[in-house]
Amino acid sequence: MSGLYRDVGVVLRTYKLRESDRIVVIHTKENGKIRAVAKGVRKTRSKFGARLEPMSHVRLLLYRGRELDIVSQAEAVEPLSPMLSSLDRASQGLAALEAVDQLSLEREPDPRAHAMLVGVLRTIAAKPSPLNVPAFYWKLLAHEGLRPQLDACVRCGDSEPSARLVAFDLVEGGVLCRSCRSGQAISEPALELLRDILGGRLQSALDREESPVTHEVAALATRALEHQIERRLRAVAMFERG
Ligand SMILES: [Zn+2]
Repeated sequence: MSGLYRDVGVVLRTYKLRESDRIVVIHTKENGKIRAVAKGVRKTRSKFGARLEPMSHVRLLLYRGRELDIVSQAEAVEPLSPMLSSLDRASQGLAALEAVDQLSLEREPDPRAHAMLVGVLRTIAAKPSPLNVPAFYWKLLAHEGLRPQLDACVRCGDSEPSARLVAFDLVEGGVLCRSCRSGQAISEPALELLRDILGGRLQSALDREESPVTHEVAALATRALEHQIERRLRAVAMFERG
């Protein structure tokens, strides 16, 4: 199965291959995550210029190889410069890339995840809100089928106002009431904010200033993502052993 094909993608990361070549890991719209060789990219007068740097959104012409594809042409869809205009933007962008890289499997097309990645990079370029990345993690996890239960206790089913939901358990996948509580504590405002993020009120969440509540939601997002990545890594390891 070889031949030329076109796609668009976001460069997730690159690493060195031989003296002047690089391997570029790209999350593409139609072909999922791919690894491709960009020849001569490390030379000063590379035909790719800076178009294959992490976070670059590119239109590609690729040659399908047996193991690695080869980048034949790459053309920027939008400029990368806004992402590099501040350290805050760049580090948020890199965090978004890493999440997608960790959660996606090679050659497993996921156009929705691709669209979400392009979307979050544009949002970060426009305004580096403290919740851009945490909200993206939650949305990505929900897209993976891991939307946490936020409106009733995951164990006994009690919901507010009779039950106070005071804990969040990553293993149980949601909030717990006082009598069932396990996992970690979650404050009421953090739970409200999480409901905004996952309940279609993302914009109002992104307009928040940095606060202890945004920190709480961000820390929980990181733990939820790590929990899922570990599960995924274990599942892959078991699959590879078997
Ligand atoms: Zn309960």
